[in-house]
Amino acid sequence: PEAITVQELANRMAERGGEVVKALFKMGVMATITQTIDADTAELVVEEFGHKAKRVSADDIEIGLRDAEGDDTGNLSDRPPVITIMGHVDHGKTSLLDALRKTDVAAHEAGGITQHIGAYQIVTPSGNKLTFLDTPGHAAFTEMRARGADVTDIVILVVAADDGIMAQTVEAISHAKAAEKPIIVAINKIDKPEANPDRVKNELLQHELVPEDMGGDIICVPVSAVTGQGLDNLEESIALQAELMELQANSDRRAEGVVVEAKLEQGRGSVATVLVRRGTLKVGDIFVAGSESGRVRALLNDRGEQVKSAGPSEPVEVLGLSGTPEAGDELIVVEDDARAREVAAFRHEKRRQTELAAQGRGTLDQMLSKI
Ligand code: GDP
Ligand code: MG
Repeated sequence: PEAITVQELANRMAERGGEVVKALFKMGVMATITQTIDADTAELVVEEFGHKAKRVSADDIEIGLRDAEGDDTGNLSDRPPVITIMGHVDHGKTSLLDALRKTDVAAHEAGGITQHIGAYQIVTPSGNKLTFLDTPGHAAFTEMRARGADVTDIVILVVAADDGIMAQTVEAISHAKAAEKPIIVAINKIDKPEANPDRVKNELLQHELVPEDMGGDIICVPVSAVTGQGLDNLEESIALQAELMELQANSDRRAEGVVVEAKLEQGRGSVATVLVRRGTLKVGDIFVAGSESGRVRALLNDRGEQVKSAGPSEPVEVLGLSGTPEAGDELIVVEDDARAREVAAFRHEKRRQTELAAQGRGTLDQMLSKI
């Protein structure tokens, strides 16, 4: 049955009517602002806008709006920050990620084999949890963002103290600025005799990053990924920045997350590393990830250990997928198999439509501008 006008739906979601018309168009539904659409279609549109739809009756839906953080209001608690390390090639991104990981006080005694699953979480000596994306470089950062998977809270800009700011450093700065992410500068390789941290700070000035000791608000931490010097300061600075940001999520709801890495593995099937953004992901949950669906058969943490659940900002390997999703795909837990298939089919169709539009007839925006 026809349930709701496009305008009313837009109003309930606090979205612009034109955006809803566009979303419908992408689904292959031609409707104007004043036309009515059925509840099934409305429900899918609502979820595409990132809201929660609740069917009140056969022909009406209720929309659970989220707060500015994109989460349900109420039941919010602090969550760890998600950090991406960027910088010029060879300035020490990978070394720093490895060195920071070794400072994890929760790491197990024997046999704790380091798994590279695309992200890891540590507990610092002062008890702060920090989540690092293990895919350094701005390609991953911008690609994820372009796909709507803006998971990074804080950018660590690595600058080698002997080399100073280079081309990719400048690129990283502009990406972080465009994404409006706070930047903490790690001045790396200070163990080297030719290290010159002051030169790095002066160069930062030229890119409108004013270090704290020069009257600005950019925290610069001298570190060495080789000797471990300064890593504690870097972690403290990250924790402080996170505290200022008041990062929160509701862990008491169905999980939503982002695929940061996915592959088909022999003997294991499709495996995706998912960063949980809100809610708690549990073994047995039925979910959609991109245009794939599944039921969580097992969850493994970044040490390869089986866990029963994963909460906000926790990275976890998910087994039980129907196929291999793509990095940047959103994972959402749904109530049952039928719903999972429905959403997966819808996304599949949407992807197909978008590809068709891009191939044969120009981009969607070009098409819409002709209407
Ligand atoms: P990436 O390209 O930014 O990931 O840089 P890598 O982590 O691969 O490091 C590039 C090179 O710099 C390697 O040979 C590292 O051993 C070296 N390196 C990284 N960090 C440090 C450091 O703090 N001190 C010194 N002396 N060498 C470092
Ligand atoms: Mg590297």
